[in-house]
Amino acid sequence: MSYLKAVLRKDNQSKINELKKLIILGKKLNKNTTPDVKKLEILLKRENKSTKTSIKETSNKKISSDSNYSINSVYTQKNSIIVNFNNKISKKHIKFFELNQGNIHKDVFDINGNFKDAQPTVLKIDNIKKITIGQFKPKILRIVLANEKNLKTFYTIKDKQLIINIRNLNTSKSFSKIRTEKIVKEVKPKTITTISTISNDYIDTENEIRSINTKNTSIEIEFNKKFSKKNLSYIAYKNNGYYEDIFDLKGKFKYTKPIKLSIDGIDKIIVSNRDSKTTRIRISNKKDLKVYYILNKRKLTIKISGLSSSKKTKALPYPNFQSKTIVIDPGHGAHDPGAVGPNKRYEKVVTLKVAKYLYNILKQRGHKVHLTRNKDTFIKVGKRTDLALKKNADVFISIHANSVAKKNAAKVSGIETYYLSPAKTERAKRVAAKENKSDIRKMSSSSTQAFLSSLNAPKITHSRLLSIDVQREMLASVGKKYKVKDKGSRPGPFWVLLDAPQASILVEVGYISHPEEGRRLYTRDYQKLLAEGMANGIDTYFQMKARFD
Ligand SMILES: [Zn+2]
Repeated sequence: MSYLKAVLRKDNQSKINELKKLIILGKKLNKNTTPDVKKLEILLKRENKSTKTSIKETSNKKISSDSNYSINSVYTQKNSIIVNFNNKISKKHIKFFELNQGNIHKDVFDINGNFKDAQPTVLKIDNIKKITIGQFKPKILRIVLANEKNLKTFYTIKDKQLIINIRNLNTSKSFSKIRTEKIVKEVKPKTITTISTISNDYIDTENEIRSINTKNTSIEIEFNKKFSKKNLSYIAYKNNGYYEDIFDLKGKFKYTKPIKLSIDGIDKIIVSNRDSKTTRIRISNKKDLKVYYILNKRKLTIKISGLSSSKKTKALPYPNFQSKTIVIDPGHGAHDPGAVGPNKRYEKVVTLKVAKYLYNILKQRGHKVHLTRNKDTFIKVGKRTDLALKKNADVFISIHANSVAKKNAAKVSGIETYYLSPAKTERAKRVAAKENKSDIRKMSSSSTQAFLSSLNAPKITHSRLLSIDVQREMLASVGKKYKVKDKGSRPGPFWVLLDAPQASILVEVGYISHPEEGRRLYTRDYQKLLAEGMANGIDTYFQMKARFD
């Protein structure tokens, strides 16, 4: 639903617009709209304020306190500390200051962002007394370099990377004038492009492993020399409810103390020294992950899959999701083929296929779903709603396909959705007459009117809202690939909807009589798009409804 989407996007303007819509809708439903009105007032106030503060901030070049730059990894490399972020960063996210405590000089970097699982970690660079890293505040990561000698540190930013470099370390005699010259060049941010530019002129003969880093859902290990498979051992097992994937790499990594790496959705990744010659990477997770690796000369990539699906179930269907009961009714069946299009295309075939796809989608999202028929059988109209009543369904959706006489077949196409209501238009009456044909209950037109007028208003309102959402989402779904006519959401006197629960609609997924649309309705691709749209519409309706119940 768009209000929730707006909340997720933190987009105040669209939040405001959606709230305005909700208030109008709520009034139509005779619901109490006070909470929404209040929310809108707060938002409007806040919107005014936030524009002011953002102007102030840019002019003062202050560190914006609310930016939430997540930090992916922090490690040391030669004379540098490298911080990898998940997003692009800029200078305003870094605050640097010096502290002199007695004979200890401290260089402090406060970085906007949070390092997942950050516990005070010790990083190490030769000849620097102490480097500590920790989550100083929930959104500020602090790196402190402590040393007896005042260090000359500088930092560069490149896209998602912060490199803190320490210049005056007398690590070796090679710190000659030639090297200084080279390093002076590096002061300009542009000369340092990636870590590899630093590491290329860095040959570490003692450590086989050059770097360990995470990238998306992979762990990348770079070696200083060719790494062969026989130097790698991989085991996976379950321990104390956790799935453990352990990689032992023959080779030293200078900076394992241990280090925690972070990949979204994985409980723990720890790099440690198994022994003086072996580096261990341990991936530990409550859910079983698919872990595999690719070795390519100097680079080992550990890929982790199965994460996206777990993310999906978390992200889907929507916040505050509640499981509902839905009865799907594929129109017609057996000796009643419904409308028949060119090339003997039967409505009853299309309705069953679409219904089955819809069934699967809704079930996957966590709803309780029932079909009035799951094969080519005939069910009396009255019996179709019996199931909905028995299951106490929240929504009843009857699926049909439309048709017109041959002479107009090529002209008429499109999707329309009906909700039960006294027929107002000739067209609705005509469609209803066709769909009502198989009903055993024959009523005179006067008794029809009497019955329909006795329908309760909330049922009509809910059905109308559902039909609007389903119609819109179906068009959006098929619209991704096809140009389809929107014939709207309409009231109609459909018997099948009469005894149905609160919200019941009848969908005409298209004209089986139309040469092109009829052909399309018989394709799996199109049937799936229709079903997906219906499911989205149903869920949108539930989300919206939840706000008023
Ligand atoms: Zn039909």
